[in-house]
Amino acid sequence: MNSISPAGSVDLAVTVDDLLIWDGVPLPTGYTRGSIVESMVKTLAEHQIRGVYGFAHTSPLEDDPGLRDTLEHWVDQGHHLGNHTHCHASLNWVSGKCYCDDIRRAEDAIGDLIERAPERYFRYTMDMSGESEAKRGEVEDFLRVNGYVNAPITAWFGDFAWIAPYYRATMNKDMATVEMLRQSYLQAALFQLRSHAAAARQIFGRDIPYIWLIHATPIAQDMLGAILAAFSQSGVRFTSLEHAMKDPAHLGMPRISPKFVNHLQRYALMQQVEMASPPQELIQTILDAAPVPGMESIPLYERVLRKMNDRAGGTYSWDWS
Ligand SMILES: [Zn+2]
Repeated sequence: MNSISPAGSVDLAVTVDDLLIWDGVPLPTGYTRGSIVESMVKTLAEHQIRGVYGFAHTSPLEDDPGLRDTLEHWVDQGHHLGNHTHCHASLNWVSGKCYCDDIRRAEDAIGDLIERAPERYFRYTMDMSGESEAKRGEVEDFLRVNGYVNAPITAWFGDFAWIAPYYRATMNKDMATVEMLRQSYLQAALFQLRSHAAAARQIFGRDIPYIWLIHATPIAQDMLGAILAAFSQSGVRFTSLEHAMKDPAHLGMPRISPKFVNHLQRYALMQQVEMASPPQELIQTILDAAPVPGMESIPLYERVLRKMNDRAGGTYSWDWS
């Protein structure tokens, strides 16, 4: 298999966001928030990957306190939890004060579990750090005072896009489409890691230890193992988040952007580095796969995002272009 970097092997820290996946995400029969996390824990063990940080927003615990068992299972199996706010609102939608209050609410809910991790990490929801330096500064000051360090994302693959089509294809028992979605998901993970690594080499002149994100979704339950195997065969060495966080690329702060982009993409925007992205037609094919009336992908994602915003009392906006 083609290696991720022509410069040799690359280090990568796996992180899992939203262990209790967002409210309004439909789960196919047979999948639960618990089954997804349990399966991911098993898969990580099969690949000898320990001490993975999960970033779980905590609002699902308000409606179903029993879901705490799932977070405890994650920690009991040797993984760690970080703070990812309570409502999962974007910093673009709410004031700095509202966002910091929401971080405190998450701390109230799972502070005892976060305490068990070697480091106190925070992750901005959607890795979006707001539309003004002043607002981000307000949050950064709050994090520092409360002993948190921002653990940003330097490789992701838009994995949430598969949620709705995978649900529709699975519920329709359309196995050909399920297979197409699984393969395109795996290929997207490889493509996007190469794309992020190529950009990092342009920006920093070297590969950095990448902080990679996957969400706890049904397709992740089925495909995390295949992705980890493909990464290994492509020269990836799995490392800890603590190790990756020592790199100045992760401690520095690229210029803010109101767009839905991650930390590395903000560096790329700042330095006008073009990043390769999958063809738009392919993304559209995935979003439109296995159609079911009333379950179209973008409107469904919009409902999920609005729910987070409304819970946080924010002013919703999203740029789908
Ligand atoms: Zn998240």
